[in-house]
Amino acid sequence: MATLDGLPPLREVIRAHDLVAKKQLGQNFLLDLNLTAKIARSAGDLSICDVLEVGPGPGGLTRGLLVEGARRVLAVEKDPRCMPVLAEIAAAYPGRLEVINGDALEVDALAHLTAPVRVIANLPYNVGTELLIRWLTPKVWPPFWDSLTLMFQKEVAERIVAKPRTEHYGRLALLAQWRCDAKIVLVLPPEAFTPAPKVHSAVVHLTRLMQPRYPADEAVLNRITAMAFNQRRKMLRSSLKGMGPDIEAQLVAAGIEPTARAEEISLERFCALARVVAG
Ligand code: SAM
Repeated sequence: MATLDGLPPLREVIRAHDLVAKKQLGQNFLLDLNLTAKIARSAGDLSICDVLEVGPGPGGLTRGLLVEGARRVLAVEKDPRCMPVLAEIAAAYPGRLEVINGDALEVDALAHLTAPVRVIANLPYNVGTELLIRWLTPKVWPPFWDSLTLMFQKEVAERIVAKPRTEHYGRLALLAQWRCDAKIVLVLPPEAFTPAPKVHSAVVHLTRLMQPRYPADEAVLNRITAMAFNQRRKMLRSSLKGMGPDIEAQLVAAGIEPTARAEEISLERFCALARVVAG
């Protein structure tokens, strides 16, 4: 059957290269090129930017990115078995796909990218959250990327976009929403992947703000939210006791009821508290 890009269908590619999925590498492949093109489109106009893709695997999303006109794609894949397939895709798109065989937690991708950069990936579940936290906490802000369009297990996606007083609200929501706009753009059932995982997945699109939504010292804000959500059902006056003897007065000064619980407090109030504590 003809494909969008004239390359062989992914099922055929996987069979020909004997790419049996490895669980320990979080390999759940997307084989529908219409779907991968749709994910690429959800990241906006790619003709004006470089794309960093982590974990291209057999190249389903990579092909979606290239079909949708990405200026250049840098793909970092740990599994050496995928290299020949990815080389075939690179040959079909001269000068537009660079592949690095390595661990995304170790490779210095920045040296291979030209701004503006967008990160788009169907992340391996075992390193997905760690990569997201790294991308959200660089030494300097704004970061090297303009946006992140990332597939996660649906529950992780919900933790990123969660609002106060909801089940998934916590540190990840605060971290992501402090310096980004974050929304879920697509939810996919297990059957969209081969092999099918146990749970639904979702694509989150995060656009970085040039500066934090509310001023706060990053280290102080982190300390407060770590303590507060460590005991999320306790009243803040007791979960934050470790911040010092003045915490009750500081909560009041930040406009927070000392008897409130972490899950009820907005990002704006947490930032206010961080300013009071730092001041
Ligand atoms: N992008 C492909 C797709 O959408 O079909 C594959 C996605 S699969 C969920 C995750 C991919 O990440 C696998 O190809 C896996 O080998 C790769 N991977 C796992 N750990 C990695 C790491 N630390 N660095 C780079 N790639 C990794």
